[in-house]
Amino acid sequence: MRWLCAVLLLLLAWPALADNGGRSALATVDLTQSSLTAEGRDRGKPRPMELRLTLSQPVPYRVYFLDGPPRLVVDFREIDFSGTEAEALPGRDLVPALRWGRFRPGWSRLVMELPGPYALRLAVQSPAEGGARGALVKLRIEPVGQKDFVTRGNALSALWDLPTPADVTALPPRRTGERPLRVALDPGHGGHDPGAQVGAISEAALMLSFARELTEILTRAGFEVVATRNDDNFIPLERRMTIARAKQADLFISLHADALPAGEAAGLSIYMWNPQADDRATRELAMRHDRADLLAGLDLAGTDDQLADVLMDLVRTETHPRSEAFAKFTVSELNRAGIAMHRTPVRGAAFSVLKSPDIPSVLIELGFLTDAGDRANLFDPDWRARTAQALTQAISLWAQDDAARAVLLRK
Ligand SMILES: [Zn+2]
Repeated sequence: MRWLCAVLLLLLAWPALADNGGRSALATVDLTQSSLTAEGRDRGKPRPMELRLTLSQPVPYRVYFLDGPPRLVVDFREIDFSGTEAEALPGRDLVPALRWGRFRPGWSRLVMELPGPYALRLAVQSPAEGGARGALVKLRIEPVGQKDFVTRGNALSALWDLPTPADVTALPPRRTGERPLRVALDPGHGGHDPGAQVGAISEAALMLSFARELTEILTRAGFEVVATRNDDNFIPLERRMTIARAKQADLFISLHADALPAGEAAGLSIYMWNPQADDRATRELAMRHDRADLLAGLDLAGTDDQLADVLMDLVRTETHPRSEAFAKFTVSELNRAGIAMHRTPVRGAAFSVLKSPDIPSVLIELGFLTDAGDRANLFDPDWRARTAQALTQAISLWAQDDAARAVLLRK
């Protein structure tokens, strides 16, 4: 996977990517400065080829091959291909087919059918040539034997193959205060996954009712609330993020009250995305949360390749401090309200539901059903009301702070 590392390094060396965060106007392709060329004259068999795309601005991207028929796939984050015909690319006739378009929120895809198996020899993004503004993506591929044809063969990549242009919504620009904050509330678990259970009460049901109580207070305070589920249904973890994104949420809060062996966890805890978190109890929780998806046949392990993860991390560099700020406001408001918290109230965890790269996201364990004190709180209407009130206050303070920062960034 030498080429993979090369792509990563090139991307990381481009600081503008981290600043952009995918929020400004999308990159476009300049067809007059783009081309597909082949080396040599032998038109009878596959030849080395170079794809050059001149873009209005640099974008993170990933490259891989699929088979049946052999094709090169390039995912960009993100290019607005609308109004640009793939058929019009100079050199297009060198390959059996070339298509491009948007294929899911935040990502565009180019698919190039190949005359045989190929390998990627070079993937470079550099400043555009000839004094043009923007960036030049240069991909060089060479024919290889079938045994050296390395494809990314998971089922999901097949599903992702270029569909008809979907009605994909982009996130609105970061909120600067002109519109109400939209909060996505995610009551954990549901359906065939009840979460933790105490007697007849399940975490799934408890979180649904807490989410309803919180929704009422938030709505009264002038916030818009979207829910990832409104009833006892199973919603896969990735789908929960997709719902938040489709509803253009500014903040994502997943609500839980899990079970851990007695003595391992007590008190309200706030989690933020951190794949390096190695606390044993936290890992156990993350595994439990993913287990329901695994049972439903959704293999999370296959959904992101390493490169996509790194790209998401680039976008996350901007979002993470915002999640962190929200956690701080939450801790201070809960303290003020006298709500008991874990001795380390803010922790990192590799919870899949927190993976949205561009929406500040936290997971709140309101308490642990396995702890007697927490359990008493969770069933106490007064405690729940005070907690919901304090969370609303934290959201309100964070919203003002975050909007003020967004205004400063825009200047
Ligand atoms: Zn849970």
